[in-house]
Amino acid sequence: MRILVTNDDGIHAPGLLELVRVLAPLGELIVIAPERQQSATGHGITLHKPLRMAPVKLGAPVQEAYATNGTPADCTILATADGRPAPDLVVAGINAGANLGEEVLYSGTVSAAMEAALQGINSFAISVTAYEDCEFATAAEFAGTLAGRMAGCDLPADTFLNVNVPSLPPDELGPATLTRLGRRRYINSLDRRVDPRGHSYYWFSGEPLECDCDEGTDIAAVRAGMISVTPVYFDMNFRGARRHLKELLDGLVE
Ligand code: MN
Repeated sequence: MRILVTNDDGIHAPGLLELVRVLAPLGELIVIAPERQQSATGHGITLHKPLRMAPVKLGAPVQEAYATNGTPADCTILATADGRPAPDLVVAGINAGANLGEEVLYSGTVSAAMEAALQGINSFAISVTAYEDCEFATAAEFAGTLAGRMAGCDLPADTFLNVNVPSLPPDELGPATLTRLGRRRYINSLDRRVDPRGHSYYWFSGEPLECDCDEGTDIAAVRAGMISVTPVYFDMNFRGARRHLKELLDGLVE
């Protein structure tokens, strides 16, 4: 099995090495990760500047490893550069910080996995729920098991798994559970500051407002200390549009 390991936290993020360590026994690894932090860069790809890929030594059991100036979605695309065969599996993570609810739209980690899904490649994104002092071991172990399963089992078209693991030691971690995406809106409060030259600038300082964290959601699962496994399917069509937008569209569209 040929596995691409990528992330959005950057090539030197500790979670990436944890994935490499656990996935190495399963096949041939290629690591392509952003040269610097690319969290919350979404599904952007690089069209307007040269996309570079420089070999790096990870000090880990990896056949090839590269740092790129591109985005996480670029990393998935770069896996087939120079005639390389497409990977059989793309694993993105282990991200520091959960990716729950609509965070999947902003997450570079999730976008790398989604890009693979769009290309018909098995993939999953995996995150732990802490930003510092992350407990990666349990998430890594789950990633290894899941990757092993995926070796003999294709996901449905346009589908990938979004996995979130509570940052807990093994004896405190609950079982894995199948979930749906909850809703976690950000109140996008912008903290306005002034630089030494008198110009204003802004920091995002939004706190998430969880507005669907009912049982069955990814949010509820990690809150209960369980590993959340959400199958995400790319289909943004609103099938009820004809009924729900009747007044708006009447006479405007056929
Ligand atoms: Mn990240």
